[in-house]
Amino acid sequence: MLLVTLREDSAEAVIPSHKLLLRAGYIRRIGSGVYAYLPLMWRVLQKVSQIVREEMNATGAQECLLPQLQPSELWQESGRWDTYTKAEGIMFAFADRQGRNVAMGPTHEEVITAIARDMVRSYRQLPLHLYQIQNKFRDEIRPRFGLLRGREFIMKDGYSFHTDPESLKETYQDMDKAYRRMLERSGAEYRAVEADSGAIGGSGSQEFMVLAEAGEDEVLYTEDGQYAANVEKAISLPPDAETSPFSQYEKRETPNTPTIASLAKFLKCPPTAIVKNVLYEAVYDNNKAVLVIVSIRGDQDVNEVKLQNEMAKLAPSFEAKGLLELTVPDAEAQKKWAAKPLPLGYMGPDLSDDFISGKEIHPQFVRMVDETAVDLENFVTGANETDYHVVGANWDKDFKKPGIVVDVRTAMVGDRAVHDNSQTLQTARGIEVGHIFQLGTKYSEAMGATYTNENGEEVPLVMGCYGVGVSRLAQAVVEQSHDKDGIIWPVAIAPYHVIIVVPNVSDDKAMNAAQSLYDELNALGIETLLDDRDERAGVKFKDADLLGIPYRIVTGRSLKQGKVEVVQRATKEAQDIALDEVITTLKQWVDEAIG
Ligand code: ATP
Ligand code: MG
Repeated sequence: MLLVTLREDSAEAVIPSHKLLLRAGYIRRIGSGVYAYLPLMWRVLQKVSQIVREEMNATGAQECLLPQLQPSELWQESGRWDTYTKAEGIMFAFADRQGRNVAMGPTHEEVITAIARDMVRSYRQLPLHLYQIQNKFRDEIRPRFGLLRGREFIMKDGYSFHTDPESLKETYQDMDKAYRRMLERSGAEYRAVEADSGAIGGSGSQEFMVLAEAGEDEVLYTEDGQYAANVEKAISLPPDAETSPFSQYEKRETPNTPTIASLAKFLKCPPTAIVKNVLYEAVYDNNKAVLVIVSIRGDQDVNEVKLQNEMAKLAPSFEAKGLLELTVPDAEAQKKWAAKPLPLGYMGPDLSDDFISGKEIHPQFVRMVDETAVDLENFVTGANETDYHVVGANWDKDFKKPGIVVDVRTAMVGDRAVHDNSQTLQTARGIEVGHIFQLGTKYSEAMGATYTNENGEEVPLVMGCYGVGVSRLAQAVVEQSHDKDGIIWPVAIAPYHVIIVVPNVSDDKAMNAAQSLYDELNALGIETLLDDRDERAGVKFKDADLLGIPYRIVTGRSLKQGKVEVVQRATKEAQDIALDEVITTLKQWVDEAIG
């Protein structure tokens, strides 16, 4: 077999799971975000896939395999071609030799909706749920952490079709249960959290997070188990505002106070008495750029995901279908439209539209106020002039209150929970391994996928979609389950259950015993490796630990007493077991572990 372990960590890896998979020879980097799954890894991935498949099949979903090469026409129909190729640029797209645009599938809503449009005619065919397990392609901005964020990776993606939202909810709940079982069976410690449904809208979505420091997502949750959400979506009660020390509206010189901290210190006022005004630039899918000023309480931060959703809602007012991107305009971006230098750090909610010029941009600011700033009295805010603020200001007296009141604040650890204000939000890091989504009719409406209902009417199909990152999950388990010596695979997804190490291969008795154990174990379905390499025993033990095979059998000294040493990888517990008992013992352990 191909077994190449490395003594040194490779420089490309920064987190333990990535280092270990490379060192133990499970994966090999071929290019940025592109990995070869070597034989050991492929066994792990097939086991994870099989668990996913079994749990999907148990819900009545059917497996299929959709093309990875997708024609641009489908993406034009759904309206996602530009977003995926230009704005986010996450889709690998190119022209074929006939000059037709095609793309490598990052996801399959378009393909499956086209199939349903052609093949589902009647309510009698519903509900329907198809899934596949396949390589996906995404040109990630920052591929990293090995299989956790690759540009080619394995995903299970499923799509369900329904007559109505109630039927969708049933399948969604089945998926919730199926996903929990998949993760439990794979040996992952996880948390299901409320997730942002983004521009797709829909009535709900949930992510499954494998808890680990290396996770790119932040999860906020309460100890009572009643609330858990991705920070992108999380809501909470902000701390109460302290009373403003000002009662008179006036303009004050406040030199060198462009930040909330410096201003609060200078004016000797609490940050909660300040209204800060933050500028963002939104670009819509018709290339219209729009500037938005968000007024929010000084101690709070804008949650850009929530703001994106608010800006996406405004798309129709700018003759657009959706939002392409939202950025904080840097100096370079400001040059394109700023008629004069902006009073950055000193902007008020009423910053004049005169600052905007040029054809490329909407001539007025959109103005929004966050719920935290809407009831403030006698507040401090920018005077639209560098080094000046106003104090003692009130909405609708000194400033027109923005018409759009929103929740765009970032919930923070320590905030009180909405469901029970005696609970405070705790924080954890997570690796998103699954996402289930009630899509509704977004794709079916855009692509004309309808069915005939019981009353003979043509109505759009109601859809759900459900993804699991199979390769990401496999590595995430390693991130949770390893020690200084190597990987500790849960038995259910280990590449092999048992490794037999022969310390001295020139000892015929040891070799023969190993060989017959190897044959018998494999015959019983206990997947077993035999390390008969002519290497020092120490090297072989080190490799066995690094590979992370759950049980190690050593045909060594104890053979004289008719015994072998059996070591459990997770606990390093060693015991001598009689040759005629070792098979039944291991069979029992493996069966118990897999359940
Ligand atoms: P992320 O927020 O991490 O970029 P996503 O929201 O784009 O993920 P989905 O489109 O919901 O991901 O895809 C379904 C699942 O596929 C994710 O839950 C994740 O497990 C996996 N996945 C997504 N992108 C990658 C990637 N670049 N590499 C490996 N797995 C991925
Ligand atoms: Mg997601």
